[in-house]
Amino acid sequence: MLVILAHPDDESFGIGGSIAKYAAEGVEVHIAIATDGAAGSVAEGHDADREKLAEVRAVELEKAVEILGGQLHTLGYRDSGMKGDEANKHPDAFINADEFEAIGRIVKLIRDVQPHVVVTHDETGGYFHPDHIQCWKVTTPAFHAAGDEFQFVEAGGPWMPDRLYYTVRPKRWIKYFTTLMRLTGKDPTAMGRNKDINMTILGQEDEDIHLEIDYRPYWDVKRLASAEHASQGGGTSFFRFLPAFLQKRWFGVDHFQQSHPAVPKGYKDTDLFPF
Ligand SMILES: [Zn+2]
Repeated sequence: MLVILAHPDDESFGIGGSIAKYAAEGVEVHIAIATDGAAGSVAEGHDADREKLAEVRAVELEKAVEILGGQLHTLGYRDSGMKGDEANKHPDAFINADEFEAIGRIVKLIRDVQPHVVVTHDETGGYFHPDHIQCWKVTTPAFHAAGDEFQFVEAGGPWMPDRLYYTVRPKRWIKYFTTLMRLTGKDPTAMGRNKDINMTILGQEDEDIHLEIDYRPYWDVKRLASAEHASQGGGTSFFRFLPAFLQKRWFGVDHFQQSHPAVPKGYKDTDLFPF
């Protein structure tokens, strides 16, 4: 299984529970992180120097991946910020990468690792983070190109994985959260550091979610891996106002959309693996 995500922490804060579950069940899990996280904010109370944030996050990532039971790969791009961020002007920023070259890097990784299953962000990047969207944009064509012996010939022999998945969040969870926000006087249409995240348009309808993975037995592994990302707040969840046992009972599930092979609306599966 090869998981390709944008930032150091996405592997833990996002689908860390599912990664821990499959790793514990004996699946060889490879985690590729595209950027160095240099444009992230530093959590309140953390003493990381913004200039050295990438170094701090590299160490956090290594520890987190070890806890989850995965093998780490890095794609070596510089972090981009949200829309309008200064970091986006940097020539090494992931969003400024030459798309063909970036696809080639992922084709090579797929051919080296030879996964049966590839997982990445969906086309909305979860919350429209440009790096997440870029990840989707280059991983999807790379997935299809990896099996074609006439493309990227210098990247090794062809390897066609069986399935491509996108990580998604259900709209019903987002609705629950935005309702609670409004009740507490917050504006769900202007969230995030720059107040530029409109929560109300996030999430996927249930009929476009093809797979749910219950990772409650691995809740604590995810929590420990997330805690390693101290510079990013250690994974405090949206639902932190709920007692931990309720967070686990209600939200200990990851959601996936199957991109390849294509499936009809309403299709439901029970496992990331076809066999
Ligand atoms: Zn991210």
